[in-house]
Amino acid sequence: MKVAVVGSGYVGLVTGVCFANFGNKVTFIDIIKEKIDKINAGIPPIYEPGLESLLKKNLKKIKGTTSYEEGLKDVEVVFICVGTPSSSDGSINLKYIKSAAKSIGRALKNIHNYVVITVKSTVIPGTTESLIPIIEKHSGKKVGVNFGLCMNPEFLREGNAINDFLNPNKIVIGEYDRNSGDVLVELYRSWDDKIPRLRVNIKTAEMIKYAQNAFLATKISFINEIANICEKVGVNVDDVAYAIGLDPRISPRFLRASRGYGGSCFSKDMKALIAFANSKGYKPRLLEEVNALNQRQPYRMIELAEEAVGDLKAKSVGILGLAFKPDTDDIRDAPSLKIIKRLLELGSKIRVYDPQAMKNVKQIFGSRIKYCENKEECIESVDIVFIITEWKEFCNEKFLSKIRVPIIDGIGVINPRKAKKLGLKYYGIGRLI
Ligand code: NAD
Repeated sequence: MKVAVVGSGYVGLVTGVCFANFGNKVTFIDIIKEKIDKINAGIPPIYEPGLESLLKKNLKKIKGTTSYEEGLKDVEVVFICVGTPSSSDGSINLKYIKSAAKSIGRALKNIHNYVVITVKSTVIPGTTESLIPIIEKHSGKKVGVNFGLCMNPEFLREGNAINDFLNPNKIVIGEYDRNSGDVLVELYRSWDDKIPRLRVNIKTAEMIKYAQNAFLATKISFINEIANICEKVGVNVDDVAYAIGLDPRISPRFLRASRGYGGSCFSKDMKALIAFANSKGYKPRLLEEVNALNQRQPYRMIELAEEAVGDLKAKSVGILGLAFKPDTDDIRDAPSLKIIKRLLELGSKIRVYDPQAMKNVKQIFGSRIKYCENKEECIESVDIVFIITEWKEFCNEKFLSKIRVPIIDGIGVINPRKAKKLGLKYYGIGRLI
C-alpha cells in the first residue's frame, strides 16, 4: 500500500520505517526541512536503537517532503503523528494536530482517491472526530464518502520502539465506519495473526491509550509511595516489590521504585486526562495524586544527597544519566532536568554525562554545567554522584566500585546488598544498605 506519515518525530519515524519494511511505500511529511533532508539521506533525526539500519535498508521505498500535496499523492492511508503537548494549564494542546488536519484537507482537494486519515497521536476522546469539519471544509469532501477516518493509538516505548511496533500486544483500530477500519486491517495484515486486532469506535480507541498510560503511571507512583514509607520503617522496597509482583494480579513489571517517571508521554497524558475529566465535571482525585507524587519524587534524590553530605552549596555533583530512560536521547520531562535546576538553585557545581542526550541538555543549561566526555570524567573529584538513568554502562560493577564518594541511586541500578559488598556509600530510594 502507499502510506503517508505526517510528523516525523519518534512515533512517525518508527511507524513509517516499519510500514516500509513490510513492503509499503511511505512518504514522510514534516514542517521541519532539516528533518526531511536527514530522512532522505538515510539519517534518522532522533536516536532510537535499530532505526538507522532499518531506514537505510528501506530507503528506496521512502521519500520525505515538506509538501502535503506531494506527500499525499496516491496514498491510501495517512497517519497523523504530530505532537500533542500540554498547554500551560495541563490540558492537551491541539494546535499541531489541527494544523495538520487543515493541511491534509487542503491537499485532499486535488486528490481523487479514497484516503483513510488516521490519527496516531495521543488525543483526548472526541479530538479525532473534531477534525472532521476542518478536513471537510478545506477539502470540500465528505467523511465516509471521499475519505475515511480512524484513530489508531500507538503504544511503543522509546528505546524499544521498533520491536514494540512490530510485536505489539494489541492493535487498536478506532473506526469511523467499517470501510475506514477495513483499510487499516489490510495494512496491518503483515503482523502476526495472534496479535488481537481490536475494532472499536474512535472515542474508545482514544480512551484506551489514556487508560493504559494512567494505569502504568499509577503503578509507578504506587511503588514510589511504598518506597517512601519503606524508608521510614527500615524496609527494603525491592524485597516488597518482588514479593507482591509474584501475585499474577499485580505482576512484577513497573514496580521499581525510583525518582519518578519522565518522558514525553506519562506526565503530559496524565495532565491532559485530568484536565479533560475536570472539564467534564469529574474530579479525578486518584490521578491528581499520582501526578503530584511524581512531581515531588525527583527531589527525594536531593534530600538523600543532603542526608549524605549536608548542605549542597558549592558541592561538586556528578550526574550520570540525563535521558528520561536508557536507549533514547529524549529528555522531555526528564527527572534529570528538575534535579539539575534544583541543584543549580542550591549553588552546587554540576558535571553531567549521558551516552546520547548531552546535545539536548546543552540546549537547556548551556554553560551553567560541565559536559563530560565519558562516565569516568563525570565522577572525577566530585563530592557526590547521582545516577538518574539506568544506562547499561552505569550498572558495571567495576565502574561503580571506583566511586568512593556517596552515590544517590535514583533508579535502582545497584542492589543495596551488592553495594554493601562493594563498600559503596550507597543511598537509594526505599533501598537500605
Ligand atoms: P515528536 O515531537 O517527536 O514529533 C512530532 C513531529 O511532528 C515533529 O517532527 C514536528 O516537526 C512535526 N509536526 C508538527 N506539526 C506538524 C504539521 N503541522 N505538519 C507536519 N509535521 C508536523 O513527537 P512524538 O514523540 O513522535 O509523539 C507524537 C505523538 O505520539 C504524541 O501525541 C505522543 O503523545 C504520541 N506517542 C508518543 C510516544 C513516544 O514514546 N514518543 C509513544 C506513543 C504515543
